[in-house]
Amino acid sequence: MNTELAMIPPAKPIIGQEERAAVDRVLASGMVAQGPEVAAFEAEFSQALAGGREVVAVNSGTSGQHLGMLALGLGPGDEVIVPSFTFAATANTVAVCGATPVFVDVDPQSFTLDPEAVEAAVTERTVGIQPVHLYGHPAPMDRLLAIAEQHGLWVFEDAAQAHGATWQGAQVGTFGQGGMFSLYPTKNMTSGEGGMVSCATPEIARQVRLLRNQGMEAQYANEIAGFNNRMTDIHAAIGRVQLGKLAGWTAARQENAAFFDANLQGVATPVVREAATHVYHQYTIRIDGASAAERDAFAAALREEHRVGCGVYYPTPVHRLETFRTEVDLPVTERLAAEVLSLPVHPSLSDMDRERIVAAVNTVAKAGA
Ligand SMILES: *Cc1c(COP(=O)(O)O)cnc(C)c1O
Repeated sequence: MNTELAMIPPAKPIIGQEERAAVDRVLASGMVAQGPEVAAFEAEFSQALAGGREVVAVNSGTSGQHLGMLALGLGPGDEVIVPSFTFAATANTVAVCGATPVFVDVDPQSFTLDPEAVEAAVTERTVGIQPVHLYGHPAPMDRLLAIAEQHGLWVFEDAAQAHGATWQGAQVGTFGQGGMFSLYPTKNMTSGEGGMVSCATPEIARQVRLLRNQGMEAQYANEIAGFNNRMTDIHAAIGRVQLGKLAGWTAARQENAAFFDANLQGVATPVVREAATHVYHQYTIRIDGASAAERDAFAAALREEHRVGCGVYYPTPVHRLETFRTEVDLPVTERLAAEVLSLPVHPSLSDMDRERIVAAVNTVAKAGA
């Protein structure tokens, strides 16, 4: 183990003086639950990232997915088509609505839903499609929307990792009937914990607002059975500051990615589709042809010999987790789960960090070749 070099962390939330001052302001007001900060955050987020659509703030991305799909009417007996190559929340939120996630394969290049696999998975019970804009690269929304339209399905976008990414010039989270952004600390921006639901119509937004707050719009006039999934004004105050910094951070991620694209050797670098802008929540390389054990050894060498933090998202495809254990053949998903490795791409990387990351990957790749 090389202990002389400082470890470059795989992710690094940036919480600065302005976030602290914003929290202080809310604490000093004595009003900390959902209030004016949340309303302002929703209005600003809608303008910046959701094309002016109505958005609803909640206490996590997972809550946003859950309430969003409940608002679209998801329930027992229904099927929703999802990728298996994603974070478990994508499928969990379908399952906790009493519905069945139907796992399909992804495109090996963009790591997002393969439209042909989606089309083939549609049954009488299918009610929706939940594409994931994985690592910050948009799913092929034009083709997915066409399939949804043809079969009368809704689309709910998992944009947890893709704040500001675009497909054919439009921002993710503005294509489907609904969409969710996560505000977890390691995502492209944070509110501490939190989520934002983008809604295509005022009716869907109203339903999400009701579900967020015990089914009430007017106090004690409960209309439906709901949850308490509200965001606090403390979290919203942090989120508002972060939103103002997001564009600069995204540009820094994209610059870091361009540097890696130009300098990495012996590994497969991420592909960006012509219709896409990628916001690099992760910069994910593939160790072409590697087994999971070989990829894990590559990651261990980066961490231990070169002190470069890195991550595997996600080592076990969701359909094989204990939760779901589905017998379905997803060869691309299986291959990607063995080959992928995400390098640090966050905005805090210095020039020296970037040089170190490139040198480390190229050295380990060469040794393994
Ligand atoms: C982070 C994430 C979620 C869940 O968001 P939380 O805010 O952590 O609840 C869902 N889907 C994907 C793809 C994610 O990366």
